[in-house]
Amino acid sequence: MSILAADLPASFVTKMQLQLGDTFPDFLKSLSEPAPVSIRLHPKKQHRYTDAPPVGWTKLGRYLAERPVFTLDPFFHAGAYYVQEASSMFLEQALSQSVDLLQPLHVLDLCAAPGGKSTHLLSLLNAESLLVSNEVIRSRAAILSENIQKWGNPIAAVTNNDPEDFQRLPGFFDVIVVDAPCSGEGLFRKDPNAMQEWSDENVLLCSKRQRRIVSDIWPSLKEQGILIYSTCTYNPEENEENLAWLAQEHDVEFLTIKIDPSWGNIAETKQDGITGYHFYPHQVKGEGFFISVIRKKETGESIRVKNSRGNFQAPTKKILEQVQSWITEPDAFAFIQRDDLIQFLPASKVQEIELLSKNLRLIMAGTFTATVKNTKIIPEHTLALSTQLNKGAFPSLALSIEDALHYLRKETLQITAEHTGFTLMCHEDIPLGWGNVLPNRINNLYPAEWRIRMSV
Ligand code: SAM
Repeated sequence: MSILAADLPASFVTKMQLQLGDTFPDFLKSLSEPAPVSIRLHPKKQHRYTDAPPVGWTKLGRYLAERPVFTLDPFFHAGAYYVQEASSMFLEQALSQSVDLLQPLHVLDLCAAPGGKSTHLLSLLNAESLLVSNEVIRSRAAILSENIQKWGNPIAAVTNNDPEDFQRLPGFFDVIVVDAPCSGEGLFRKDPNAMQEWSDENVLLCSKRQRRIVSDIWPSLKEQGILIYSTCTYNPEENEENLAWLAQEHDVEFLTIKIDPSWGNIAETKQDGITGYHFYPHQVKGEGFFISVIRKKETGESIRVKNSRGNFQAPTKKILEQVQSWITEPDAFAFIQRDDLIQFLPASKVQEIELLSKNLRLIMAGTFTATVKNTKIIPEHTLALSTQLNKGAFPSLALSIEDALHYLRKETLQITAEHTGFTLMCHEDIPLGWGNVLPNRINNLYPAEWRIRMSV
């Protein structure tokens, strides 16, 4: 879609002319060019795009020459990559330049759906860390949970809470990412609907909401903790002015991020003691984006995590032995059973997860592993996508691209196998999910709510 000045809201044009001066015509021209297509690779899953040109500011980002039909790519459903706009991958620099990623960190991604920043954070954090990925809108929390499960990293928990609910966890987080709901003006060329919804009133409304969100979440950030604030907008109301307000309200320090000139012209804004970074589509290969890194310098209350085994129930010894054999590094994980469902959690984070479950609406934590039905232990879909899966514990079937798509549509499979039982359905060695091989057919166990609905 090509955007002309006449398509843009008049007030937006006036503001951008003022903000960009001589470079405004280049900005306008960039809006009529196609948006670059970019993906972020999973660091532990095999994929076919490794050799594509890199996004400079992240080890895992790649540009694609054209937009494939991602829905029809089994690797997409296996969580081998995430389709994400390139500028927002700058989160990697914001995080890696401001905290020691070798330390165990408690990280909150507050406005997380559909999961772009969260899956990126999971690729950057170490195995002793915990990511709480939160989304306030319930339906969007379900999509977030699906994407987190596809990413298959065991250190994630998904919650569905209002920002103010996190005040029950004072001083709990080392890092909070607020990728704030915004007027979306940085995405006009990718999402022209955002243009229709844009107005000066909406910018002000968003700005007020962003301040409320930051205020609500502030007590749950540790002293010396890091807030990463971002929007996909250019305007000062949602960016610089909000940061100036934060600096007035609280004792903070803005951190500088080193920029490699080969990344393009990422515009540093330093004014009245605040620092932030603007991404404009005529100056970098990506969409409009803003990000700032802020250190909290105030002291405050801090919640204590109890050092007890907690109330989570363990499965029976017999079940435990079986499910332990299904994952790699079983000693690093605690298995728990809630009703019929067995999950594994990072052993070092059981108390923290219990604290989350007592104080928040916890949708998932760790990895769904199995369902116990009478005497049967049925592996869960999430386990098939987990980076901890012990592939050697199950037989597998290699599916052609056609069969993989039949499988992902949850259709009947016309293939045969020489064994029976729960089987990993793979495409080019990457697990897509489970099938139950019976003597005369294969039951397709792909989750109905995740199936591909698109026809070729
Ligand atoms: N971080 C996400 C990613 O990278 O995929 C994108 C987040 S999007 C920019 C902002 C999110 O904030 C949306 O999912 C939206 O539902 C959520 N949101 C809307 N109103 C909110 C509020 N009042 N408090 C917290 N989050 C809100």
